[in-house]
Amino acid sequence: MFGSKFYRRLAQVAVFLLFVTAAAYSSAAWQATSPATSPAWQRPPATTTPPTPAPVTLADILRGAYGPYRVNNDLLSYHLDIRVDPDKQIISGKNSIRFKMLQDGTRIQLDLHSALGVDKILFGTTQLRYVRDSGAVFVDFPETLHAGQEYTIDFYYSGHPLTTARFGGFTFGKDPAGRPWIYTACEDIGASDWWPNKDQWRDEVENMQISVAIPNGLVDVSNGKFLGKTDLGDGYTRWDWLVQYPINNYDVALNIGNYVHFSDQSGDLPLDFYVLPEDLEKAKRQFAQAKGMIEAYEHYFGEYPFKKDGYKLVEVPYAGMEHQSAVAYGNHFTNGYLGRDWTGVGVSPKFDFIIIHESGHEWFGNAVSAADRSDMWIHEGWTTYLEVLYVEYTFGHEDAQKYVNGYKAKVQNREPIIAERGVAATPPQDMYFKGALFLNTLRSVINDDARWWALIHDFYQHFKYQNIMTEDVVAYFNQQTQLYLTPLFDQYLRHTAIPTLELKFNEADGTVDYRWQADEPDFAMPIRVGKKTDWQIIQATTYWQTMKTPLKKNEFDVATDLYFVNVTKE
Ligand SMILES: [Zn+2]
Repeated sequence: MFGSKFYRRLAQVAVFLLFVTAAAYSSAAWQATSPATSPAWQRPPATTTPPTPAPVTLADILRGAYGPYRVNNDLLSYHLDIRVDPDKQIISGKNSIRFKMLQDGTRIQLDLHSALGVDKILFGTTQLRYVRDSGAVFVDFPETLHAGQEYTIDFYYSGHPLTTARFGGFTFGKDPAGRPWIYTACEDIGASDWWPNKDQWRDEVENMQISVAIPNGLVDVSNGKFLGKTDLGDGYTRWDWLVQYPINNYDVALNIGNYVHFSDQSGDLPLDFYVLPEDLEKAKRQFAQAKGMIEAYEHYFGEYPFKKDGYKLVEVPYAGMEHQSAVAYGNHFTNGYLGRDWTGVGVSPKFDFIIIHESGHEWFGNAVSAADRSDMWIHEGWTTYLEVLYVEYTFGHEDAQKYVNGYKAKVQNREPIIAERGVAATPPQDMYFKGALFLNTLRSVINDDARWWALIHDFYQHFKYQNIMTEDVVAYFNQQTQLYLTPLFDQYLRHTAIPTLELKFNEADGTVDYRWQADEPDFAMPIRVGKKTDWQIIQATTYWQTMKTPLKKNEFDVATDLYFVNVTKE
């Protein structure tokens, strides 16, 4: 996802609401049910500084927490089968949800925005009872569902979905020629803004079918492989798509419009492009960049992760969104970001920011996914770093370093990158730019590019199609490098400030004292200092050490393009 103003202030709710919700989600009730070999993200991190508490709503907690009626089941598949009426601005239909119970139980939690009506929920032929609370729908079964067994329910719903949030949630719009243009973008508000699902990040279906009936003459582009279209005989045509991989709920997309289609290939990967007819020639020129993007990312990380589903770019009226295998594109068929030199150093005008950024999410965000929104830097920090890799692959190392350092001006250092766990809220925008600068720093810490390329390649391959937390990332890097990088990750991700290298010169003795000033007491990071043409690496810690140098204070440099740090000299 991308947008420049997106940190959302949440409305304060009364303390008693929080108390009531906290009681309902008492950790003992659901942590006790975790399997004995719980993955790292279920264990409390060893060294976490509590983030500044943000005011949250009941809905944010109900949707954000992995509560007892979510933890008791595991999603297998969805079949979303709906009709979209552009005139009445109504959607209606059902989602068939298949899941496996992990514990015996009689209740599961699904989610659907309160603006939409629940028509009925069927379990076979049995109509199920349910309780709605904010956006949550607690579904009750008349008999115990047993651990290890698989079940399917059909969740029927209808109504006018809200057009809200940064990119619209669900929008019944018009294209510039006045024809219907209907699209979704719901990462912030959640997919339950327009369809019923288990609206959280930890659990994904293994596959999904998307069937969308729309008036004849319009085209629906959704995720996955196009299966075909069927004339329903009542003025509507159903478009069927099959997603053959795990998918985040918010990636599930409708793009309904008067699209024209053209295609290409990258090796044996099909590339399909859908644009308004007026934009066809521009799109043919601009979308040629997709091939170079695929080539660059495959070079660093390996094969495009959703090969059976293909790769698509779909024109939309907002900037862009990483909808899996159907990337939404709205960058006006020009380079840079919405016509701007995005990092302000002359590199961004060489490529289309939205093609490069949003498609990078196929590797980080869609293939490797965060299990909780608090750890969204795994999507955005990594994908912003992928932009840098694209630049390095395509235009060279010098441009890449210029490009990533151009991001420094956008870093705010006001809040930690990792936000509060279990709350449906978007972390601060530092997750993008500071996240990428941190990874660029980590490359310098490894100080061996061959090793760095292997490390990030293997990291991606190890976690692809999984939902992970920062603890998993840190454990992997520690294990693979045999370095204790935890304080380094924690300093950049869990604290507000970046580390400061303090230098005290004693020119008479020809020495300089140095240490890191950091929030993490065990913070230690080697860094290149001295003369730019002949860097010397010092193993700085939070304790004072002394080195000899023939350089005077004003001649003594620190490689701040390679490490995102502050430097003070006295
Ligand atoms: Zn993004």
